[in-house]
Amino acid sequence: MRFDLRPRKRLITCQGMQIWMGFGPEMIGGHLYVHHLDVKKHLAPLAAGMPNLGRVAVIDAGHGRDNLGTRSTYNREYEKRYTLDWARRLKPLLERKGWRVYLTREADRSMSLTDRVKFADSVDASIFISLHFNAAAMQVKGLETYCIAPVGMPSHLTRGHPDPFRTTLPNNPWDEASFQLAARVHNQMLVNCRMEDRGVRRVRFMTVIKGQKRPAILVEGGYLSNPTEARKINTVEYRQKLAEGIAAAL
Ligand SMILES: [Zn+2]
Repeated sequence: MRFDLRPRKRLITCQGMQIWMGFGPEMIGGHLYVHHLDVKKHLAPLAAGMPNLGRVAVIDAGHGRDNLGTRSTYNREYEKRYTLDWARRLKPLLERKGWRVYLTREADRSMSLTDRVKFADSVDASIFISLHFNAAAMQVKGLETYCIAPVGMPSHLTRGHPDPFRTTLPNNPWDEASFQLAARVHNQMLVNCRMEDRGVRRVRFMTVIKGQKRPAILVEGGYLSNPTEARKINTVEYRQKLAEGIAAAL
């Protein structure tokens, strides 16, 4: 496996895929040093390949009912409708590969973030994947996949929340497996969808994944605030490709 590292750059590439490290490698005395947490939580899990992730998947269509999510700049459609369609397309694809699949919602229904975690507990899920679309400044575009930041490692994104990096979160025992799942899903989605790569990233504030007692990731399938991507997300073909990308990874 090939890793491309540069001094002080947190963004590295692994087999052509972008990975955000916790810390930039340091050049000391002519040698490039990588932080031990990055070796343990990023490089070693990638080199180890995919572990056995079990056979029960919970797919979480982000938002629902009065929780609308973000809104398409193309046609003013709500994120909640696109995430549900993506989840429904993904379910049969995973079932065909032998997974038992539960959707947190099968209709336009509201569900709190903690209830989504409880739901995964109740079906004894072996993995949890939350599906979303993103919004930012108009020019921002591409795919992102998130998992929980390991203890001691700063988040890549806080959205104004505190980042208590010394606190152990319920999902931290699954750091490596969550990251392996994230990297694999992210890579397959890039291959399938040919979108800009915004990398696998670490966060602490995402309630729907931080409380999970299993490998858990959140996937952002493009930006509804970007005109080109918003138009793409509105097509059945693209949403099918997003579903096929995840299915190919599992
Ligand atoms: Zn969302």
